[in-house]
Amino acid sequence: MEASVILAKCPNRGGRLFGMRIQRMQDGDWWRTWAFPIDEQRAKGEGYDVREARGGLNALASYPGCPYCKARGFVQCGRCRKIVCWNNEEQMTCPWCGNHMDSIVTADSFNVSGGDV
Ligand SMILES: [Zn+2]
Ligand SMILES: [Zn+2]
Repeated sequence: MEASVILAKCPNRGGRLFGMRIQRMQDGDWWRTWAFPIDEQRAKGEGYDVREARGGLNALASYPGCPYCKARGFVQCGRCRKIVCWNNEEQMTCPWCGNHMDSIVTADSFNVSGGDV
């Protein structure tokens, strides 16, 4: 079973970091299975990096949502390509790079990597 963790930040809690656990299912697509708070030091120590995941990144019914704001949705910043919680806001600021996202579009398919902090 292939699984990985991608890092996301919650813009609703001052950009706090969390991990999204993802798992490759039998159909070859990646699904989000779990989310958990993590701090930057630990994320670096765990070395969540460079694994790419492509696909819908849908959430399982049991996926708990963001550990801070409960968002089940997310967007990928167009500038830094990192992952940010999304609660259907029309615009927001990326907590990773400060990019102002004023035309948020959701994608059917993502290509993300575990990424550095
Ligand atoms: Zn959140
Ligand atoms: Zn960004």
